[in-house]
Amino acid sequence: MSEVVDVLVIGGGPVGAALALSLKGEALSVTVLEARTSPSNDPRVLALSHGSRLYLEKIGADIDPATPITKIHVSQKGGFGRTILTAEESGVPALGYVARYADVHRAIASRLDSQTCISGAVAAEIDLDGEYGTVDFDHEGTRRRIAARLIVMADGGKLVGHVKGITQHVREYGQWAITGQVKTEKPHCNTAYERFTPDGPLALLPSGDGFSLVWTASPEEAKAILSLERGAFLEKLQNHFGERLGQFVDCGTLSGFPLVLRYSTPFVSSHLALVGNAAQTLHPVSGQGLNLGLRDAAMLSREILESDSIGSEKMLSNYRKAREIDRGSGIRFTDSLIRLFSNEIPPLRAGRGIGLAALDCLPPARKWFSRSMMFGFKTRSIL
Ligand SMILES: Cc1cc2nc3c(=O)[nH]c(=O)nc-3n(C[C@H](O)[C@H](O)[C@H](O)COP(=O)(O)OP(=O)(O)OC[C@H]3O[C@@H](n4cnc5c(N)ncnc54)[C@H](O)[C@@H]3O)c2cc1C
Repeated sequence: MSEVVDVLVIGGGPVGAALALSLKGEALSVTVLEARTSPSNDPRVLALSHGSRLYLEKIGADIDPATPITKIHVSQKGGFGRTILTAEESGVPALGYVARYADVHRAIASRLDSQTCISGAVAAEIDLDGEYGTVDFDHEGTRRRIAARLIVMADGGKLVGHVKGITQHVREYGQWAITGQVKTEKPHCNTAYERFTPDGPLALLPSGDGFSLVWTASPEEAKAILSLERGAFLEKLQNHFGERLGQFVDCGTLSGFPLVLRYSTPFVSSHLALVGNAAQTLHPVSGQGLNLGLRDAAMLSREILESDSIGSEKMLSNYRKAREIDRGSGIRFTDSLIRLFSNEIPPLRAGRGIGLAALDCLPPARKWFSRSMMFGFKTRSIL
């Protein structure tokens, strides 16, 4: 038998690396295979919930720089009704923090040594049929094999389709997210804006001295927007978002991401657990993807540490039970938001307005909603 480790993580992105960091210092052998050879330069910007930030601090990853969000303003274009969520009402210093993917990833992954995290290691084959799970991977021109009591897929979902017994469900949204930094005449005052439009949601997240933009549009429209000159782009954004922040005065480099809902069932199998985007890849509306993934990592590390038999059916069943409500709610919540707010039937538009206005008038409902966004739906605390 080749080398056997307790936990083998495929993918050292933010979720896989957070899982490995949660297990650091314990009497366990943990190996992470990461395909990349250099740090990530992914341009996306993420809203980390207050709960995620506390978890990351607990495992020793301090995200810097990060801009706090103390207020979230939710509205719909062309319809009445809006709601405002505040950190003060929820009794927390901030509802969330905005940081670059690359900075979040560096803060976590830099705490892993090169023996734990093998960079340039590309997992190719997974076999779950034996006494242990095995993974064949390519590293520096050589094919190698590692056996593990537990294999954790944290590869973002690329390999899941090749694993026997796991089905990947895919819903194409027919939308792209256009992302980039923008500046407005008025300061952000740590407020995030989520505006629903018939073409998809548009978010402005406070970031440094400007905003990070996540603008959803059809693929054709997104390509056209991405090809605009700076002035024409700012004008189009102005028309789309409105005057609430005064004029849009500047923008940085823009990027486009195709959007899809992808989730795997089951998300555990013999010797195998899925976390993060490998388990569920969500639309970025309401910024839930990484937050859900970090809760996967936190819960799985807890089950691993509490188990006397890593990778056993019992341990995996406990992980499944611990995650199924939060994960299912996160998938349904983001998917329903897109369906509900993309529909322009007049009674629906009015219904949405009533919903937003009602939420605005009901402090307990708002508080429950904010806490679910920060700490998860009906889940054990990850702290
Ligand atoms: C535009 C946009 C905005 C978003 N905004 C937010 C937000 O505001 N808040 C939020 O919570 N989430 C947000 N998300 C979602 C968030 O980016 C993801 O949920 C998060 O990156 C998932 O992390 P992960 O570690 O599971 O996967 P990934 O980030 O995809 O990392 C996977 C890792 O696995 C490695 N890998 C892949 N294949 C292999 C292999 N075969 N062998 C070894 N390694 C491999 C990759 O190199 C990578 O490092 C957003 C997403 C998009 C597209």
